[in-house]
Amino acid sequence: MKNYTGLQHKKVLVLGLAKSGVAAAELLHDLGAFVTVNDAKPFDENSEAQSLLQKGITVICGRHPEDLLDEGFELIVKNPGIPYHNFIIQDAINRNIPVWTEIELAYLVSEAPMIGITGSNGKTTTTTLIYEMLQKAGEKPLVAGNIGTVACGVAREATSDHFIVTELSSFQLMGVETFKPKIAVLTNLYEAHLDYHGSFEAYADAKFAVTAQQDSSDYFIYNADQPTVAAYAEKTKAQTVPFTVNGRTDEGISADQQYIYWHGQAILERAAIKLPGQHNLENILAAVATCLLLGSEVEPLNEVLHHFGGVKHRTQFVKEWQGIRFYNDSKATNSLATKSALEAFAAPTILLAGGLERNHSLEELTSSLTNVRMAILFGETKRRFAEFFEAHHIPTQLVENVEQAVPLAIKQATAGDVVLLSPACASWDQYESFEIRGDAFINAINEL
Ligand code: ADP
Repeated sequence: MKNYTGLQHKKVLVLGLAKSGVAAAELLHDLGAFVTVNDAKPFDENSEAQSLLQKGITVICGRHPEDLLDEGFELIVKNPGIPYHNFIIQDAINRNIPVWTEIELAYLVSEAPMIGITGSNGKTTTTTLIYEMLQKAGEKPLVAGNIGTVACGVAREATSDHFIVTELSSFQLMGVETFKPKIAVLTNLYEAHLDYHGSFEAYADAKFAVTAQQDSSDYFIYNADQPTVAAYAEKTKAQTVPFTVNGRTDEGISADQQYIYWHGQAILERAAIKLPGQHNLENILAAVATCLLLGSEVEPLNEVLHHFGGVKHRTQFVKEWQGIRFYNDSKATNSLATKSALEAFAAPTILLAGGLERNHSLEELTSSLTNVRMAILFGETKRRFAEFFEAHHIPTQLVENVEQAVPLAIKQATAGDVVLLSPACASWDQYESFEIRGDAFINAINEL
C-alpha cells in the first residue's frame, strides 16, 4: 500500500456501512484520519459497527442525525447505494464538503495500476474475461467490485506487480476526483438508473468520470458503435481505442463474421469463441484490447475464449437435455439485456420472463422476437407482459414462478430449442436476488 499522508488528522465521515463502508472506514483509520461512521441500522443489530467501535472508530447508528455535519467533517465517503438527494449529502454539497466513494480511496493507496470497467451492461462479463485472460497470460490480476472484494480492501494488498481489475457502477464513479485508471473501458450507455441520476446526461457524465483524469499515458477503450459513447470519446485526453462489431477497421479492435482484428490484422478466429451473442462479442473485444495493451500474447486470450462459457446468471449455459439447451440469464433485469440475450440465439426460443413491476416498456424487444416460440410469464408483470407478447402473435402461458415455468417449458420444447430465463425485470417481488432466481432455474432443470 502507498504511504498516503493526505488524509492524516482529517475528520472524515463514512456514510452507510455494508462491506464497502467497513473497508473504507478501516482504511481511513489506518491512514491516520479521525473517522466517524453513520449507519441507519441500530447498533445492537449492526455487527460491522460493533467491530469498528472496537478499533477506536466513532460510531453513530440507528439514525442519521439532522445536525450531523455540524461536527466539522472535511470529507465524506459514502456508500454508492446512498443517492445524492439524501439530505446529508445535499447538506455536504451546500457546505462544500467533498463526497467520495471508496474507489477514490482505493486509487490513492494502490501501488498497482488500475483497470476500470464501466457501462450500462456487460461490466461483470468484461471484468471477468479480463481477469481470466490476464491470469492465463501469466500476469497477477486482482479483481474488485461487484464480483470481487471491495476495491479499498484489494488496493491495500496489491503491489506494483499486480493489476487491479475493477468493475465500476455509475454510483461508484460519481464523486471521484483523482481516480486515474491505466485503462478505462466504457462498454455501452443505455437509459438506466435515471431515477438515481436524474437525467441521461447526468448518468452519462458519471460514466465518463472513468476517463476524466486520464492523460496520454493511459488508454480509453470504448464502444464506437454507439454514437453517444463515441461523442464522449472525443473529450478524453487518453489514447483512444475504439471497438466495433460492424466489420474490420484499421483503428483499435474490430470484428467481422470470421475474425477479430487488432489494428486491422486478424488475430483471433470467431469460430473458436464459446460465449454466445453479439453483445458478448463486444465484451470480448474490450477485454482482448485491454490485455493486448497490457502486453499479453494472443494465444492465452484465445484459450480463454475457447473455454469461457459466461459468468453465472449472464446468458450462462446450464445444460443440454434431450437436445434442448437451457440458458440462465437471470441478471437480465431490464429489457435491453433481454433483447441482447434473445439476439444471441438463432434457434427457436422459449422465453421465461417477468418479475418486479416498474412499468418499463418492452417495446425494445420488438425487433428481437423472430425466434421466440412462446413466452412463459411469472411475477408482478406477468399480465402486462402477456399483452405485449400476444400483440406480437406469440403464445403465452402464465405461471406462479420460475420453478413452475421450467417443467412447462420442457413440455413445450422440442429438440433443437433453447429455453432461456431472461426476465427483463428485477427479482424482488418473488426472489431476494437475481442470483437466487437463477439458482431456482438451475435447480428446477437439475431435477429433470
Ligand atoms: P453488468 O455487470 O453491467 O450488469 P453483466 O456482464 O452482468 O453486466 O451482464 C448483464 C446482462 O446484460 C447479461 O445477462 C446480458 O443479457 C446483458 N449484456 C451483457 N453484455 C452486454 C453488452 N455488451 N451489451 C448489451 N447487453 C449486454
